[in-house]
Amino acid sequence: MLVPRLEPFRSTVFAEMTELAVRHGAINLGQGFPDEDGPSAMLEAAREAIASGANQYPPGAGRVELREAIAEDRATRYGTAYDPADEVLVTVGATEGITASIIALADRGDEVVLVAPYFDSYPAAVAMAGARHRCARLVEDGDRFVLDVDSLRAAITPATRLLVINSPHNPTGSVLEEAELAQVAGLAIEHDLIVITDEVYERLVFDGAEHRPLAALPGMRERTLCVSSAGKTFNCTGWKIGWVCGPRELVAAVRAAKQFMSFVSGGPLQPAVATALRGEQPWVDGLREELQGKRDALAAALSQAGFAVRASAGTYFVIADPRPLGHGDARALCRAMPGSIGVGAVPVSAFVDARDQADWRHLVRFAFCKRHEVLAEAGRRLAGASRLSTDHEG
Ligand SMILES: *Cc1c(COP(=O)(O)O)cnc(C)c1O
Repeated sequence: MLVPRLEPFRSTVFAEMTELAVRHGAINLGQGFPDEDGPSAMLEAAREAIASGANQYPPGAGRVELREAIAEDRATRYGTAYDPADEVLVTVGATEGITASIIALADRGDEVVLVAPYFDSYPAAVAMAGARHRCARLVEDGDRFVLDVDSLRAAITPATRLLVINSPHNPTGSVLEEAELAQVAGLAIEHDLIVITDEVYERLVFDGAEHRPLAALPGMRERTLCVSSAGKTFNCTGWKIGWVCGPRELVAAVRAAKQFMSFVSGGPLQPAVATALRGEQPWVDGLREELQGKRDALAAALSQAGFAVRASAGTYFVIADPRPLGHGDARALCRAMPGSIGVGAVPVSAFVDARDQADWRHLVRFAFCKRHEVLAEAGRRLAGASRLSTDHEG
C-alpha cells in the first residue's frame, strides 16, 4: 500500500539491529541514546510546569521564554543574532525542524544535496517533499573523515535548491574545520543555495575543539537554517524539543509547513528546556568531558579487540574497521554480534544510498553514550570479536 517514493524507507537497519539486541539481551551500542538522565533542575522545571497547569497548546512558534533562551544561547556562544519573535521556531525535535524545512523549501523536481553518510531521516524527508536527493561524500583521510569538496561541487546542478550539512557528524564523529566550512559557504553562495545545518551535537565536541555554525560565516546567515535540539545536549532524547533559527522569510516558510505537521508539542517541556539553556552550561561541560572519557574507553577496548578505530572529534559515536579481524562485511558482523558476543552496533552502510554501499561496507558505528560500567562490560565482550565467524565473503 505504501506509495512507491517511500518504499525505500519502509524498514531500517536500525530497527533490525535494535530488535536483534533486544532478542539476545545484548548491550546495544547501536542506537544513540544516553542511559542517564539530564540535569535535575531541568527535570524539576518540567514537573513544576505540569503541576502549574502548562498543559495546553503552547504558541505556534513555541513558548516565548524558550525562543528567547535559544536566541540568547546562540548570540552568546556564536555571536549569531536571531529575533525570538520571528526568527526562532520550536519544533518536534531537530527531525521535524529538518523535515519541515525540506518540505517547505524543496518542490517537486527540485534537488537536495546530502553528504553521505547521512542521518537517515534526510532522504526520507526529501522523498516526502517529492524532491530528489544527490549525494556528496565524506572520505577517509588518515584516521579521520573529511568532506570531499569536489564531490559536493559535482552534486550541485541547476535543479539544486537545498544543501543539508551535519557537523558534528553522525555517524563518523567528524567536525568540519574552518577551511571546509569556508568551502561549503563558497559553493552555497556561488550557486545561491539554502543550507540546512543539523547541529544537534553542537556542544558535544572533544579535545578542546569548537563547533562553528556555518551561519556565522560571511554571507551565510541570510541563506542558512540552523537546526538543533535539546535531546543530545541535555540527555532528553525522548522529549523531542528542537528548534530552527534563520532569517525571518525562511523561518516563516518552515513554520507554514510545520503548523500542519504537528502544530505544536511538548508544552510543559518547553519552559524546562529554557531553564536548561539558561542555567545548565556547567552540566553540559561535565557531560562533554564525561563523553570524551567514554569515547577514549570504548576506542581503547575496540583497538584492544583488534578493530582499527577512526578518530572521533565529537558526537556519541566512534567508527571502527573490523577488517584486521578478518571481517570485511560490517552488516554481517553487526547481525552476528548480538547473538554471539552480546554487543549490538550498526553498519555505516545503513547511512548511505544503495549505490554507495561498497564504499562503506567495512565500517561499524559504535555509540559510547552509555554508563561507564556498561561500556566496560561491552569492552570485555568485544574481546571475543576475533573469534567470531560471519557469513561474509572471507
Ligand atoms: C539524533 C539526531 C537527530 C534527531 O534529533 P531529535 O531532536 O531527536 O529529532 C538529528 N540529526 C542527527 C545527526 C542526530 O544524530
